[in-house]
Amino acid sequence: MTISNYNFAGKKAIVRVDFNVPLDENGKITDDTRIRGALPTLKHILDNGGALIIMSHMGKPKGKVAKKYSLSQIVDAVSAALGVKVAFADDCAKAKAMADALKAGEVLMLENLRFYPEEEGKPVDIDKEDPAYDEAKKAMKASQKEFAKVLASYADCYVNDAFGTAHRKHASTAVIADYFDADNKMLGFLMEKECEAVDNILKNIRRPFTAIMGGSKVSTKIGIIENLMDKVDNLILCGGMTYTFAKAQGGKIGNSICEDDKLDLALDIIRQAKEKGVNLVLGVDSVCGDAFSNDAHQQVCPSDAIPEGWEGMDAGPKSREMFAKAIEGAKTILWNGPAGVFEFDNFTGGSRAIAEAIAKATKEGAYSLIGGGDSVACVNKFGLAEQVSYISTGGGALLEAIEGKVLPGVAAIKGE
Ligand code: AMP
Repeated sequence: MTISNYNFAGKKAIVRVDFNVPLDENGKITDDTRIRGALPTLKHILDNGGALIIMSHMGKPKGKVAKKYSLSQIVDAVSAALGVKVAFADDCAKAKAMADALKAGEVLMLENLRFYPEEEGKPVDIDKEDPAYDEAKKAMKASQKEFAKVLASYADCYVNDAFGTAHRKHASTAVIADYFDADNKMLGFLMEKECEAVDNILKNIRRPFTAIMGGSKVSTKIGIIENLMDKVDNLILCGGMTYTFAKAQGGKIGNSICEDDKLDLALDIIRQAKEKGVNLVLGVDSVCGDAFSNDAHQQVCPSDAIPEGWEGMDAGPKSREMFAKAIEGAKTILWNGPAGVFEFDNFTGGSRAIAEAIAKATKEGAYSLIGGGDSVACVNKFGLAEQVSYISTGGGALLEAIEGKVLPGVAAIKGE
């Protein structure tokens, strides 16, 4: 079923959203992006005659009630955003009576699902090494099903709009779907958009396709690099990864960040790119600093000849030109991970050059997807968020999807 086709009139919908919003020490929301992200789905259901039961997690309370993670703190903000007074059930597993009493147009929000260990389905208070762990895990999986069944009993249909947790097989993100037939479960609008974004770069690729992977380490990006290797025309690898590649090829990298146990892997990536005809773009020069600090002295050095006492902290001018050239004219663009230590204002140039090249290519008709926390922070920092095609809301979930993994939250509904 799709959310656009479903008739919500007179129905109660239980909707999994990601309201894991950051709060300050007074419990005030500091960034409401996630609430705004779910509004199209929530408003659509209300506008079409449905009643809403909203459920989410917040933080990592590890299966125990913890006041600082209580969703009661955001009830007023959700009421204001929806323009409807939201009732609150302070025990998510004992909300049946409140759910039953809901009428069309009314909204009930459940307390943090992760106050129950059943949500994540992992035993708490028992060490993984403990011989009793496996038994405890089995028992927990059984009670996870019971917990999901209770949540399902509140509603006529289930909507998953929590892309940020779609890579987790939790009670509310996946297991609950077993208690609804295919006609009564669906993705929300945000999930639909995120899935479409992933399809645009993995399936419906318009060429040339340029992927830009940055960030600090090869090890955390290897799954994605390998999956993309069969799909992209140009692959830019930048950021801290640069120096593992430079060292692997015999370069001198001074104090630059490097994963010494990934040198062979770096050579293998270079080999794979050659075999597959992928244009692998590695920066040739770096802006180096004599300390890991915004105020460090700077000099531009070849990325494979960095003096002792200096470290590569950003892409140099020649590298920026190479990156821009590989982005220019692309019709599909994916960017994950900055090209330098962009948190330091004096080392943002490489990331800015990438963001600007992406904005330009997008203006000329490219589809551009920006995902993963830090590259999203970059486009926001440079004021270019409006000039790219799509900014993903899901960090880990997006990265797993791009690695080619099936997301349990999506599979539970679409059966893929
Ligand atoms: P990731 O979480 O792997 O995407 O990495 C993001 C982090 O990589 C950011 O905090 C950047 O500061 C960092 N980073 C990017 N380039 C470098 C570099 N040349 N040296 C050290 N850290 C870097």
